[in-house]
Amino acid sequence: MQKPQEIVLAEPRGFCAGVDRAIEIVERALQKFGRPIYVRHEIVHNTYVVNDLKAKGAIFIEDLAEVPPGATLIFSAHGVSRAVQDEAKARGFTIFDATCPLVTKVHVEVAKLAREGYEFIMIGHKGHPEVEGTMGQLDSGIHLVEDVADVARVQPAQTEKLAVVTQTTLSVDDAAEITTAVRARFPNIREPKQQDICYATQNRQDAVKLLSPQVDLVIVVGSPTSSNSNRLRELAERMGTPAYMVDSAEELRHEWFDGIARVGLTAGASAPEVLVQAVIARIKELGAVSVRKMAGIEETLKFPLPKGLKLHAAAGE
Ligand code: SF4
Repeated sequence: MQKPQEIVLAEPRGFCAGVDRAIEIVERALQKFGRPIYVRHEIVHNTYVVNDLKAKGAIFIEDLAEVPPGATLIFSAHGVSRAVQDEAKARGFTIFDATCPLVTKVHVEVAKLAREGYEFIMIGHKGHPEVEGTMGQLDSGIHLVEDVADVARVQPAQTEKLAVVTQTTLSVDDAAEITTAVRARFPNIREPKQQDICYATQNRQDAVKLLSPQVDLVIVVGSPTSSNSNRLRELAERMGTPAYMVDSAEELRHEWFDGIARVGLTAGASAPEVLVQAVIARIKELGAVSVRKMAGIEETLKFPLPKGLKLHAAAGE
């Protein structure tokens, strides 16, 4: 039986600027205010990250009623609805918002156009916290479509002022197909100047498109709840390469590698590099002798931290 020979690493992969910032917000809050720090929802959708922060003193909750008065509360990178923001304020917590600025950008756009009388078609996955947060920027007038069939069914109250928004972590190809259907049904619909799917989602999917034809198997490091990680696995499969997603190296199964010469490896935007390195070590145990990094876009974007958590606070934060 052939053993894996080479590991090919997708570039870019793993943490994006929004995830980096969200984790840093929790860590800085722990340093500054001590434990416990409450976080509404998993700060990012990754088991390792969440367990690591739990060990450092973060408590993850879904319902604000679980947070004691006077506590420090952080909103996760996925963003929250206005109702959650209002409730958190009313309960008097010290709040830090780790919503990714690229999600906030969508929230701001929705609020602005709603004031101008717009209704919205949102392309996204039902139940995902980002979708709940974005739809929850308005009391009504925002309609979710998950696929092309939904586009035929959706019933906005009017069509003169209609805009489309998307979840940031969708499949670029699926979103393009659904947007085409939206445009065909509502030709005057307003589209964002810059697409809502974020740079990190786009770059990681582009990298998998380059990677998949070069390898016999793709492994995606990511948690089952991570939207963008799931999309990477699906994409590799659509490109005709068998693909598995693992939350950790322990989930790798040796039979996946039978008869496989080249293994492609990538990671979702919420999956830390330490897990990628552990997966590399495990595949090497199974026989791989070399690791090759693909050429790819170098990401340099960095988002500022919220006021009150920046270093050198005395120098005027
Ligand atoms: Fe922000 Fe995109 Fe990262 Fe989500 S995947 S946190 S939207 S940069």
